[in-house]
Amino acid sequence: MENINKISEDLLLHTSVDVARCYQCGKCTAGCVLASEMDFPPSYLMRLLQTGTAENYERILHSNTIWLCLNCENCLGRCPMEIDIPKVMDYLREESLNKKKLHPDAKPIVAFHKSFLDSIKYTGRLYEVGLIAGFKTRTFRLTQDLKLAPKMYFNGKLNLIPETINDRKGIREIFAKTIDNPKTKNK
Ligand code: SF4
Ligand code: SF4
Repeated sequence: MENINKISEDLLLHTSVDVARCYQCGKCTAGCVLASEMDFPPSYLMRLLQTGTAENYERILHSNTIWLCLNCENCLGRCPMEIDIPKVMDYLREESLNKKKLHPDAKPIVAFHKSFLDSIKYTGRLYEVGLIAGFKTRTFRLTQDLKLAPKMYFNGKLNLIPETINDRKGIREIFAKTIDNPKTKNK
């Protein structure tokens, strides 16, 4: 079971954010364009983190809040304590994935994210056809928006052959040191 020290310490270690500094003024929530869509808004998330209970941490990791966040930094810009909520959201998303607590609505978001990264990893660029194929395969949305494909193709929006950069080896090395490196995952 997690306890208040472990949760706060890990968060501080990985993000340099001390959740105890939040004094619940609510300015982050007031400036968040997605607050009304979230299971709970950013200031509430901060309060849940402050409680440090395993139950509340579980609620956070299983919420849609961490996946709806756009990392727009409105909250950070408005926070009198300069608390980096976007960085906290990044950390919590990793935690949610690593601990397999993903909110069901977040699955397409994660599928898109992974397909996007695959495209960058193997071509060094965004390869739209590969991105769409990867997304559809991961989400089983095989026929969704299929009718748009011919129009996009004839308007030059879809290249069947991927463009690649020269230094693809360099890109793969970056992935090996970061995303694909188990040591960089949150513990
Ligand atoms: S970074 Fe996330 S939490 Fe902060 S204002 Fe933007 S969407 Fe809301
Ligand atoms: S703006 Fe900063 S201090 Fe105020 S509730 Fe949000 S995180 Fe806490």
